[in-house]
This record gives sequence, structure tokens and C-alpha cells, in this order.
Amino acid sequence: MFTFLSQKFSGILEWLTNKGRLTEENIKEAENRVRDALIEADVPLHIVEAFLAEIAAEVVGKQIQTSLNPGQQFVKIVHDKLLAFLGGRDTLTAVTFQIPSVIMVMGLQGSGKTTTIAKIAQSVAQQAQQRGKKRYMLLASIDFYRPAAIDQLEVLAGKIQQPFYRAKSTNPLAAAKEIYDHFKANHYELLFLDTAGRLHIDEEMMAELRNVTAKLAPKHKILVLDAMTGQESLNVAQAFDQAIGFDAAILTKMDSDARGGAAFAFRYALKKPIAWVGTGEKIEDLEQFVPERMATRILGMGDLQTLLEKAAENIPDATQDALTKRLMDGAFSLQDFYDQLSMIDKMGSLQKVSRYLPGTHTISPEMMEKGQVEMKKFRAIITSMTAKEKMVPQILDGSRKKRIAQGAGVNVQDINQLLQRFEQSKQFVKMFKKMGKLNRFF
Ligand code: GDP
Repeated sequence: MFTFLSQKFSGILEWLTNKGRLTEENIKEAENRVRDALIEADVPLHIVEAFLAEIAAEVVGKQIQTSLNPGQQFVKIVHDKLLAFLGGRDTLTAVTFQIPSVIMVMGLQGSGKTTTIAKIAQSVAQQAQQRGKKRYMLLASIDFYRPAAIDQLEVLAGKIQQPFYRAKSTNPLAAAKEIYDHFKANHYELLFLDTAGRLHIDEEMMAELRNVTAKLAPKHKILVLDAMTGQESLNVAQAFDQAIGFDAAILTKMDSDARGGAAFAFRYALKKPIAWVGTGEKIEDLEQFVPERMATRILGMGDLQTLLEKAAENIPDATQDALTKRLMDGAFSLQDFYDQLSMIDKMGSLQKVSRYLPGTHTISPEMMEKGQVEMKKFRAIITSMTAKEKMVPQILDGSRKKRIAQGAGVNVQDINQLLQRFEQSKQFVKMFKKMGKLNRFF
């Protein structure tokens, strides 16, 4: 997500901070580069100009050339303006659904409505579970336009183990009423209602949504937008806003090579929150949109907060604590190393995890892919070891290595590489410990 903008922005800012003293010319040059990056990211020109005008005003006002650290000051101005454009520090981004309520989900066909409903329902269920509660949710669809859309929702509901209801009627309005009656009669708390999209903005679709809105008075109307469609997504959002109105948007496919312009333009033009972003096809590929985190990510400064939250969602606290303790005690074994690799795997992949780390935009996808393959190999090797070998890898002589290599289907060289990486990771931990930063790091 935002890889394109992040690469561009961090390049510009690096170039600028290396300049030492800033002159009027190189500030102009930096502004021009920012302009080019945003235009390339598919942000509409008038929004790009508005952004630059705000930066320019601040640069002049702050007399940036004469400040102690002009490069960094410029970075701060860009960061603060980015943050403001993405919604600011105080915007309420997370949507908390009232109970009971109907949540009507709208969007063009293929924008990701159906998939996103499953993602949100799963996220709501998990959040409730973390508080020791259970939410009674119902998933239903009145999308009679796209073939098999309703079946798709049924399959997804099964996957996340949430109730699904299929209306008998195939008339959207009658079906909506039938679904609503079922929702009420069975005392569900939340109804996620999937609606029919079209390939383009279409009056029939809007009329249908208007009628459903009049009939069910949904408390929440959420618009799903495909970030890959760039500037077009802004037109779509404006059309839905005029015809139906909505409370918050969800931008999907932010994992694709969508250049991030859609998020930037949407917030500025519509002044409505982006509640979540979709970052993949899997159900867990949903992230809350927090402007502050997105701004730092765009500037290539990483997003450790989201990474830690992801870790908390996917890995039990006890496992994390036990590993941290062994790291601190210096009793870190190959088994622990294995567990650490498995944690990364549970959180998605090396590539996914690295998206949240500062500076990793310079690592090529090929390198990441190589790292991923290496991790898989390492896990296979460790699995082929005896408990003693895992605890005391020093006993690994030629014949043991040969046996393990055969078991794991790798070369002895791969085992040596693993041992080298293991040593490096122990050194890394030692270094952190010395610096007294381990606690903060974890
Ligand atoms: P609908 O017609 O709006 O209900 O769209 P679907 O939910 O069927 O999604 C259309 C396609 O987009 C499917 O292939 C989804 O797997 C895919 N999709 C949805 N959200 C995302 C996302 O965040 N990232 C990616 N890469 N694909 C997505």
C-alpha cells in the first residue's frame, strides 16, 4: 500500500535533506518533484495544486532556509500537510456500529463489496471476542444483478462462521424487506446488507438503493471504492454521495499497484472518513485507515503501530511473551528461531510484514521473494532436527548435517546458511540488549 508514493516521497526528501542548506531553488525543485509524484499517483491536478499551495505557504511562513535543520523541517511540513489531507489527527476513522443496526454496503460491481462485508464482519466478531463478547450478525444480499453474488456471500459467511440468510423473493426491494423481517424476528444485532452494483454509475442502481434506504432506513451506509480505478473512484464517490449519501468509505485493492492517489483525493474532496482499506483478497486483509499512520507510511517511515496490532491479532500473547523472555535470557534456541519464522508466516509473509517497517521500500520484490523461500527452507531444516540439535546446534557435524539435509530435501550448504542467519539474529538481539532498547523494541 502506498508503495509508489512512499518510494517517490522518500526519494525526494532524502535528496533534499542531503542538500544541507536549502535554497529557494532546491525548495522549488522539491515542490516540483512532489507535484510530479502526486500526478503520477493519479491525484487530480486541482487537488495536487491545493496541496502544494499549502506547503508553499508554510515554507515561506516558517522561513525554512534559515532554520537549523531545513531539510528535516521541510519533511515535517510535508508530513503535517499529508496528515491533514488524509483526515488529520482527530478524525474519527473507526466506524463503531450502533446496535442494532442495518449496514448497507454499496459500490460498483467488482469494487469488492461482497469480499469486504466478510472482512468487516470478521473484524467486528474478533473485536467483540477480544472483549469477551459475542456479536449477533447476519449477512444477506440483494444483489440479483451479478450472477452468483449471493452464493459468494453465502460461502464467505460460512468461512467466517456467521449466519447468512437467503431471501425467497428475487425482487430487490421485497427481498430487502424479507431479510429485514428475518433480522428483526431473530434479534440479530447487526445486518450487513450487500447490494447490487453495476459496471458504471447507473440510474437504475441508484433508484434501487434509494428505495432500499427509504424502506430499511439503514443506520450506516458504507461505500466500497476500488482504489485501482484512481481518479475515476472520486467521480464514483461523488455520484453516490449525491444520489444516496454515505457515512464512510472503504478503499479496496490498496495492495495492488494502485498508486495511492485515490485515498489522497477522496479525503480531500469528500471530507468523509475512510474507515478501512482492503489490502488483499483474503478475509484478514483489512486494515483500519488511520491518517497519521498512512502519512508516515507514505513518507517511507514505516508503520510499526499497525504491525504490532497485527502481531497481537495473530499471535497469542503467551507465545510472544515466552519468546521475548528467552531472547532476554540469551536462551534463544533454533526452536525459538523456528517459532519466530512461523510468526512472520502467521502474519502473512515477509513482504507483508516489511510493508510496515521503515526503509524497506528499497528492498526489491525479488529479494523479498528470496527471503520468503529461505524462510520456508529454514523451517523445513529445523523440523528435521532432533530436540538436542535444536538446543545445542554446536553438535551439528558433517554426518548430522548430511542426515538433516536429506530429511529436509536441501543441501548441506543451506544448513550452514541457516546457522549463519541464526547466529546473526542472536547477535542482533545482543546488540539491542546492550543498547537497553529491547523492551522498547518489543
Ligand atoms: P463485488 O462485485 O463488489 O461484490 O466484488 P467482489 O467482492 O466479488 O470482489 C471483486 C474481486 O476483487 C474479487 O476477485 C476479490 O477477491 C477482489 N478483491 C476485493 N477486495 C480486494 C482487495 O482489497 N485486494 C485485492 N487484491 N483484491 C480484492
